[in-house]
Amino acid sequence: MPATDTGTPVITFDDVVKRFGRTTVLDGLNFQVDKGERVTLIGPSGSGKTTILRLVMTLEDLTDGYIYIDGEPFTYEQRNGRRVRRKPKDVARIAQRIGMVFQQFNLFPNMTVIENIVEAPIHVLGQSKEEAVTRGTELLDLVGLADKADEHPTRLSGGQQQRVAIARALAMDPEILLLDEVTSALDPELVGDVLNVLRNIAQTTDITMLIVTHEMQFAQEVSHRVLMFDQGRIIEDAPPDVMFSSPQEQRTKDFLKAVL
Ligand code: ADP
Ligand code: MG
Repeated sequence: MPATDTGTPVITFDDVVKRFGRTTVLDGLNFQVDKGERVTLIGPSGSGKTTILRLVMTLEDLTDGYIYIDGEPFTYEQRNGRRVRRKPKDVARIAQRIGMVFQQFNLFPNMTVIENIVEAPIHVLGQSKEEAVTRGTELLDLVGLADKADEHPTRLSGGQQQRVAIARALAMDPEILLLDEVTSALDPELVGDVLNVLRNIAQTTDITMLIVTHEMQFAQEVSHRVLMFDQGRIIEDAPPDVMFSSPQEQRTKDFLKAVL
């Protein structure tokens, strides 16, 4: 399915700078993601991919620059020529539209699977328990775990836990889904089920996705566009068939040779 919309980008990075102490990780990063577009970030370890997702998730604070979501300034805005932090309630309103799945599944171990899934829809979106459980049960079915609703996460395999984490993110009905190496912590035989669930979501929804993965075959299948990062910069931006079969930059060629 192609990305269809050419209107306002869903995500805009505008001269984004991120430093940790004296380490500059992103030094004026610009890129845009369109509605429904699935963009995969590739590049060597330490090139800033996780930092980019964590900035979008507001888990990290921008050092400078702006991120826009659907054209609206997110954590900072310009007012009277000055860069000012937006009000927490405005940030929270926008952040609700964004979900993330991490390498480590981060499920609440003291709650059952269905309790994990309905927690945020009830407490953040204000859904009734009944409504949240109905939707949560549908999502568990979607990720192939309808029979695990009342289990505790610790009784599930890593791949099952990760599929619960995906269902939990979807329960918030996100407009944007961020996936950071969601299969990297899994035993190899559990990777396929998780990727199948994500392929299905990619095919059946118009959720905008930013994906970090080492699964290049998967990236090729689901992405509209691949961005190659090196030291916090985009060194190549191409559709997957071009990026994976005829990359232009030597650093991309070297990286792909090492991971494929
Ligand atoms: P990637 O996901 O591409 O491997 P990261 O975004 O995790 O890269 O890291 C980019 C750089 O930022 C690395 O040099 C890393 O050491 C540094 N970094 C990330 N998080 C922190 C942090 N909390 N404190 C200090 N340095 C960090
Ligand atoms: Mg990372």
